[in-house]
Amino acid sequence: MRLYISCDMEGTAGVCSWEQCDPNNANEYPIYRRLMSREVRAAIDGARAAEPCEVLVNDAHSRMHNLLFDELPDDVRVLSGYRKALSMVQGADEGFDGAFFTGYHAGIGVERAVLAHTYSPNVLYGVRIDGMECDETLLNAAYLGEFGVPVLLVSGDEALCVSTRKHLPWARCAQVKRSTDYYSADSMTPAAALALIAETAREAVWHRAEARPFRFDGSVTLEIEAASVECADYMALIPGFTRPSGRSLRFQAPRYILAFQALIAAMRIGRAAADRA
Ligand SMILES: [Zn+2]
Repeated sequence: MRLYISCDMEGTAGVCSWEQCDPNNANEYPIYRRLMSREVRAAIDGARAAEPCEVLVNDAHSRMHNLLFDELPDDVRVLSGYRKALSMVQGADEGFDGAFFTGYHAGIGVERAVLAHTYSPNVLYGVRIDGMECDETLLNAAYLGEFGVPVLLVSGDEALCVSTRKHLPWARCAQVKRSTDYYSADSMTPAAALALIAETAREAVWHRAEARPFRFDGSVTLEIEAASVECADYMALIPGFTRPSGRSLRFQAPRYILAFQALIAAMRIGRAAADRA
């Protein structure tokens, strides 16, 4: 099978602070990027225990060149680099049979969810599609769903798994920690997490015929709650966006994929306001 992996970092076992995930942090980040890389490796090894897999890994955290190549199998492909126009779903298309989201985390506003955010917390305070609050898992799953690709596995904390089980009940969840606050978690050790992820990945691929693409059918309404009025000022410049109130934006799209593209564009332009020098 052809497997697409979008790997984030905040959901890695043991991770509970931004410093651990910050490429500018010379002390902690090198440790945790290795743990992140090993979790991706465990997911690949687990998948391959069920079935031969051709793998594309999209490094989807922060500067998007976190993965250590010496921790990965020699024959996988890796999408590295910043920025990528399609961010966490760069490279996804109808050529894949299934997807894994490793190191993922809950969406902004969720309680007891370590480092929970949705794409850019300095720009986005909330994202809804047809009134449904969407985290990165759902937004990205729906993008893959447009190409008929089902999400088979997610790994991260309990809050992520609770939300994923609700909306993507066919996906296998490797819960490597339980968040106790925004900046604390009760975690498995990295070694135990690797074993869990590998076994869950094996089951996910073994049962992949049960999985379904996650889709928003037909025309959709995208609603964005910007983090600040100045971000919303910029987002509102995008043709087709309306602004029901100071930080709220709305976009009607004939298909989800266009709503997703509009979200990414709004996030980029909003960041221009947030990154004031
Ligand atoms: Zn991240």
